[in-house]
Amino acid sequence: MFYFQLSAIFVMGAVFGSFLNVCIYRLPRGESILWPRSYCPGCKHTISALENIPVLSFLFLRGKCRRCKHEIPLRYPLVEVLTGFLLLLVWHFFGWSLSAIHYGVLILFLLPISFIDINTRLILNVLTFPGILAGLLLAAFVEDVTIWQSVIGLLLGGGFLWGIGLLGEFMFKQESMGGGDVKLGAMIGAFLGAEVIIALFLAFFLALPVIALGLSTKKLQLGSKLPFGPFIALAATIIVFWGDTFYDFYFSFFI
Ligand SMILES: [Zn+2]
Repeated sequence: MFYFQLSAIFVMGAVFGSFLNVCIYRLPRGESILWPRSYCPGCKHTISALENIPVLSFLFLRGKCRRCKHEIPLRYPLVEVLTGFLLLLVWHFFGWSLSAIHYGVLILFLLPISFIDINTRLILNVLTFPGILAGLLLAAFVEDVTIWQSVIGLLLGGGFLWGIGLLGEFMFKQESMGGGDVKLGAMIGAFLGAEVIIALFLAFFLALPVIALGLSTKKLQLGSKLPFGPFIALAATIIVFWGDTFYDFYFSFFI
């Protein structure tokens, strides 16, 4: 029974991931995510159900379109496996509960936001606005946050990044924090409440070594744009799963 549940949740996650892949490809292009059915960007042929099985189809087709051999990016199976794995973690930590739905929904928003930010350097309103709304709505039902904590988190998360953006603009004389990051901060705040501040601090700490490495290997210049969304998303995910462990560790340094 345990392994049945385990595989069922993973498969469900992979199916969600398959839909997220559609969002990641189509939303930045302004295309509908519901219509038409999935097609190959190379030869436009509609992808059959058999070619659309998460992960397995990619392996079976060896990462290429069956007709025109157009390469299927590795991102497709990666997002499917990652979504399955993250939903398993949600289930591991929260079981069958409202909290599981609460944090599961958050993660299903964070995944496409992160991958679209990596691909296009954009965080889309079409994801953050519904995400904020979902966070506020779910707060009315779950025990993790109250509706007021959700509103406060929204203002804190958005306000914190907005303030950092102003500071960056003042110091470096150029935009350093996009409006998309601010809305993503607000969205995470709507889910986490005031804890969003800890997630955002953690995001900066996670980004720091990557920026240092980028600068030292000249892959990154001062003033070049690094997508910050994935760091915010990763930090929020860490706080969702290991928040308590993280606080113990953190405070053991300072107290
Ligand atoms: Zn094709």
